[in-house]
Amino acid sequence: MLEDFWYRREEIPSDAAFRNHLNNPLPSESGGCLHEWALAEAVISTMLAVAKEKGAKAVSEAMIKLGRLQNIDTEIFNHALRELAKGTLLEKTEIKLEMEESRFKCRACGHEWKLAPSEVGSDESEAIHFIPDLAHAFIRCPRCRSPDFEITGGRGVWVEYIRIST
Ligand SMILES: [Zn+2]
Repeated sequence: MLEDFWYRREEIPSDAAFRNHLNNPLPSESGGCLHEWALAEAVISTMLAVAKEKGAKAVSEAMIKLGRLQNIDTEIFNHALRELAKGTLLEKTEIKLEMEESRFKCRACGHEWKLAPSEVGSDESEAIHFIPDLAHAFIRCPRCRSPDFEITGGRGVWVEYIRIST
């Protein structure tokens, strides 16, 4: 067997800056896609680093997990991944995207719940997009109305696995 699944949840910093586009207009002026490009660049460079570390000759498949609270436009993100993968080891890689649902746990009463994106208004969701910690300003425990809760799912971006041949 030359192919090997490599599993590790490699977290991508959500404040990743897209280095090559620093001189471009601010996200508000460019349709808000800077976020997706920054994350895509961080994902690609992480996968390339892992592939190199493992001595990969090819990467046939990869799985990226996206937290729902990151509010990522998967179409832009996917496009950015394809563009950034060109001319690299990842050019022919089948890159799969999977959403991780937002999950919360109340610290006051222990209640756990999920949040559908539609339950947050668009301004609020935009704010959470840039600063997930703002979730606390908009969300309350549906059982006891406490604003004191943990975000237990739906944050961040991960490389879940890459499948390499050596
Ligand atoms: Zn509660």
